[in-house]
Amino acid sequence: MWRFLEYCWFVVRTKGFIGGLLRIGMLISRFDLSGRKMRRAIQGIAGLGRRFGYSPALIVPAIVLHRHRHILNDGSCQDLELAIHGYTHKNMRPLSLEAQVQEVRKARQIFDQLGVKARGFRAPYLSCNTHTERVVSYCGLAWNSDTAFMANGILHSHMGRPRRFVERAVQQLYMPDDAADRLLAPWILEKTVCIPILLPDDEILVDRLGIDQPDAVADIWLKMLQWVRARGGLFVLQLHPERFSICSKAMELLLEQTSIPGSGTWMAAMGQIADWWMTRDSFKFVISPADSGAFDVLVKGPPNATIVGLNLPSDLGKPFFGGYRQIKARQFRVTTDGKIPCVGIHPDAPTALAKFIHNAGFASEVSDVDKGYAMYFGSGQAFGPSDEIRVINQIESAGRPVLRCWPWPNGYKSAFATTHDLDSVTLTDFLYRLLGK
Ligand SMILES: [Zn+2]
Repeated sequence: MWRFLEYCWFVVRTKGFIGGLLRIGMLISRFDLSGRKMRRAIQGIAGLGRRFGYSPALIVPAIVLHRHRHILNDGSCQDLELAIHGYTHKNMRPLSLEAQVQEVRKARQIFDQLGVKARGFRAPYLSCNTHTERVVSYCGLAWNSDTAFMANGILHSHMGRPRRFVERAVQQLYMPDDAADRLLAPWILEKTVCIPILLPDDEILVDRLGIDQPDAVADIWLKMLQWVRARGGLFVLQLHPERFSICSKAMELLLEQTSIPGSGTWMAAMGQIADWWMTRDSFKFVISPADSGAFDVLVKGPPNATIVGLNLPSDLGKPFFGGYRQIKARQFRVTTDGKIPCVGIHPDAPTALAKFIHNAGFASEVSDVDKGYAMYFGSGQAFGPSDEIRVINQIESAGRPVLRCWPWPNGYKSAFATTHDLDSVTLTDFLYRLLGK
């Protein structure tokens, strides 16, 4: 009963009283007792994945997957990447590290028993706290995806007069960072790759903003795709199977745009992105001075890494993206008038800054003096996640040659994945969820 009251309070806080009632009405229409509607939605998502050549991620609470384990054998989940969405669909934010470890372990055991080797995790309601990424790593999973970035500029342009209630509810529920401040790419925490999701998702658009015309949803998602591409970033879409019938056309249009030949967007499964990011992390530029203001460069790391540079001489590499030129060779000479084509970082600069510069792919070196780097970051400066784009802009606008391992492999300029949180299969699941089961 307590669970039920807690849920009602949660719904009222995040959707309002009327919104809460509407939510119940909508649920009844989206689900059924047999689970046929959700199976059809899952098959539709898997079908789009097959048509466009990637594996969408189906993220399911362990208890729901166990209850409907027949979907593992009837072909519904074929070609989908299954991942964990909690043991039950429970808010993780108030939980301690130990309690979260217990939840994820229990969930993993169920997946193992069902013969599903889950490699990824997303907290229900994206309800992560400061422990969650560490918990997921501790539990041996390859990827975690519950940090949310919000494409605020695009969302606001579709809200007319921004609705304060919606704004407040979304902030309360997801606590998203402004995507304009963040590098649209994963990061590594211990042994886990953290892959951010880009909002607005189907839930914000359809249920909260009432944007339920397929063309209108598609319009917003296509603008997000364009925006992400212009930044060479990663777009992880969220579309719940319960709204697939409303948003399938928008997802299809988005996939058609993403897969246009020559667009340079890598369509990948979440597991592939995680594997790539872990492999890429070993990249290293060995830069040694050569004759008269030139440097010899040796690139170590995966052979399919995309090596690029900014402000390079026009006889080195080919135009790639923005002012970047792509260099196919792994050993080459750069003439730079004596400027070292990497970023210098003072040993007392924040560790998070040095880690971020590496994660963004820039060649870097720790030095207590500026030896003439493309950009030098001294000691005594603050750095947090909201400074990421400011730092990249500083490096890119310095006007000096700098080498970089681009985020995506094989010459891709941007990346795209879709994720689908399957919270309930039947109406009964939803009632169980209210009881915490
Ligand atoms: Zn969920």
